Amino acid sequence: MIETQPKVLMALKNVSYSYHSLSGEIPALSNISFNIYNEEFLAIVGPSGCGKSTLLSLIAKLNEPEQGTIFVENPDGMIRYPKVGYMLQRDHLFEWRTIYRNVTLGLEINHQLQEERLAYVEQLLEEYGLSSFRNKKPSELSGGMRQRAALIRTLALNPDILLLDEPFSALDYQTRLSVSGDICQLIRKTGKTAILITHDLSEAISIADRIIVLSKRPGTVKKIIPISLSVAHKTPLESRNAVEFRDYFNLLWKEIDS
Ligand code: ADP
Ligand code: MG
Repeated sequence: MIETQPKVLMALKNVSYSYHSLSGEIPALSNISFNIYNEEFLAIVGPSGCGKSTLLSLIAKLNEPEQGTIFVENPDGMIRYPKVGYMLQRDHLFEWRTIYRNVTLGLEINHQLQEERLAYVEQLLEEYGLSSFRNKKPSELSGGMRQRAALIRTLALNPDILLLDEPFSALDYQTRLSVSGDICQLIRKTGKTAILITHDLSEAISIADRIIVLSKRPGTVKKIIPISLSVAHKTPLESRNAVEFRDYFNLLWKEIDS
């Protein structure tokens, strides 16, 4: 069998970033280098305040690295920055809008309410079991359904890469287990590249292809751990029962703690 090399989507090289405030300079990230491969699910873990959200803002081009570079590799040699979709800590659905008007909000703001885009939204509503909830308000939906709606809104703009900044942290533990598994499986099915920030080590192991461990601030890359679990489906529960799970957990714990 011929092993195909995974394609690099972005390459971060020696990236550093500091915040400047009246009280001085706050170094947030220092000398960060790693590749982001096409279609991979990458998790980033690290202590609170170590620069994880800052790192996503650089990848999303909301901020520019102070030092270092972020290379983008396009097969056609064109210089085109990957289109980024963000999912944040809360689902940010607007209560006064129906589910339909929430999932099409991104398209509306970006003047992209074209037929083709709306057809894609329809397809996702159908696929994610939300079609019959289109006229409901967010408060009438379960936490899991709200997250699905938030995912549709993000996917509607057809991003190349999804950035998930602790998107499940507002959910209670049990809901979180099922919703994180559900949403991440749906993302995998889209074949999109995704980066998940989480402080939940078990979540990272059960979801990601690779985990990047950052040190405390200023964040540096401490370790990059490829995850390979001998399970048929990477659901949260199945993954947690894999024989390798505990070793990964201990390894991560040691890295974070040291
Ligand atoms: P994390 O997401 O890992 O918790 P952040 O990337 O949000 O960390 O922040 C990294 C560090 O930079 C933190 O110590 C934080 O206090 C500081 N920081 C974040 N945003 C700003 C800002 N706008 N101005 C000044 N300092 C900031
Ligand atoms: Mg953060």
